[in-house]
Amino acid sequence: TAGRDVTVRENRVETRDGTEIEVAANIGTAAELDGAVDQGADGIGLFRTEFLFLDRESPPSEDEQFESYVEALDAFPEGRVVVRTLDIGGDKPIPYLDLPEEENPFLGNRGIRRSLDADSDLFESQLRALLRAAAAGKGTLSVMFPLVSTIEELTAALDAVDRVASDLDDEGIDYAQPELGVMIETPAAVLMAPEFAERVDFLSIGTNDLAQYVMAADRENEAVAELHDPQQPAVLRAIDRAVEAAHANDSWIGMCGEMAGDPDLTELLVGLGLDELSMSAVTVPAVKANITEIDRSEAVDRRDRALTKNTKSMVTKTVNQ
Ligand code: PEP
Ligand code: MG
Repeated sequence: TAGRDVTVRENRVETRDGTEIEVAANIGTAAELDGAVDQGADGIGLFRTEFLFLDRESPPSEDEQFESYVEALDAFPEGRVVVRTLDIGGDKPIPYLDLPEEENPFLGNRGIRRSLDADSDLFESQLRALLRAAAAGKGTLSVMFPLVSTIEELTAALDAVDRVASDLDDEGIDYAQPELGVMIETPAAVLMAPEFAERVDFLSIGTNDLAQYVMAADRENEAVAELHDPQQPAVLRAIDRAVEAAHANDSWIGMCGEMAGDPDLTELLVGLGLDELSMSAVTVPAVKANITEIDRSEAVDRRDRALTKNTKSMVTKTVNQ
């Protein structure tokens, strides 16, 4: 879009003692890019691409997707744009996809599971658009896969990227290899995080789903809201374990669930060692301001104390002290 401000590195923030934390925005459509830039986001940490597929009669073409991804990359010439591949589940109506009724859609055929199976054609066209955009757009493209829980799924997704790259090669179409990552959204992914981190460039924790699945509590059910809370000790320990696994394998790790945008939790998240936080654009300024006030060793101390607590109320007390 003409006239869009260009984000520059000077926008970046670091803790008082010089640890840079990337603060990015979550978006669903290219229309939200201006808001992300205006709020001073360093980049996009979660582009929920299923919104490109909703409210229409047929899926967007490869070229149409390419345009959206390039637009996002051009909005952050110095930044990173993390695009999540299609995360469609039985709970979102998409008429042209003929989604089956499932008794437990959140435990059913969703996320990467569909991309490797029922929606493999869509997955392929999305990957083609992404690899082409990686070469055409200004910023750095990262691509991540949702709801992965096994090595086989991750390997199949990475193989699909290789296949698409080799097809584009054969066709003489310009493309570039994006950074590749996996979302940590299931207990299985936390337990397999060391092996995942060996195979990808980065991990990104989706705390909305992670809290739901660790606590076996529907994220949309208010009656169990106390359970699907990221301040539950079990969720906190799962997050800590994922961060350790990423760093032990030289991967960076971000967080793109709601937890990342809670300004009350910034110090705890810095203490846990997250390299990137991605949130709705409106909370970017508050989280950035918090980061500049944080001393890393104090943050690590708070993390240490929070991780010893065995109830949510004690964790919350430690966070607010
Ligand atoms: C999450 O699960 O935390 C996440 C970021 O993805 P979504 O909310 O789109 O499921
Ligand atoms: Mg999710």
